[in-house]
Amino acid sequence: MNPFLKKVQEALAARGYDPGPIDGRDGPKTRKAVTAFQQDSGLDPDGQVGTLTENRLFTEQLSRISFDGDGSTAHFARAEFACDCGGAYCDGFPAEMNLELLLKLEALRNALNVPVMITSGVRCPQRNAEVGGVPQSQHLFGQAADCYAPGIPIATVAAIAESLGLLAIRYEAEGFVHLAV
Ligand SMILES: [Zn+2]
Repeated sequence: MNPFLKKVQEALAARGYDPGPIDGRDGPKTRKAVTAFQQDSGLDPDGQVGTLTENRLFTEQLSRISFDGDGSTAHFARAEFACDCGGAYCDGFPAEMNLELLLKLEALRNALNVPVMITSGVRCPQRNAEVGGVPQSQHLFGQAADCYAPGIPIATVAAIAESLGLLAIRYEAEGFVHLAV
């Protein structure tokens, strides 16, 4: 069972397509539903859920929490996720933030009911190397964000993030949690 595929199946069903059982397993019905969705959305109908298809599938969910259409959400400004090289190596967004991650950060923020402070969002390769990130860090692709919530234990933030389906790595001593999709 693939949790991501299960979410894809849920999103397809919510849009009126029939992916078969919502079980996180690949099969002809799910492929057919993905292909039909791609055809209706003007995407290459290859039956594979790549980045474009993923973004299109989950965009409607994101738009419910987006308030100004520039990539900012209700509680996070787009700039909070910019690469912090300060313009030394990139323009701040060598990659866009993953929509599903933004959606879940909003859900996390709402569950905690306190501000969630982003300490690292997108990183360009040079900045990633400078801060000691692993070579294939998810920060390079907008698929990870480091954060903390003032007054709330790292363990609590991590546990709630995991309940939302995020991958959480606890950095207790450093005082932040790495969250990724
Ligand atoms: Zn940079």
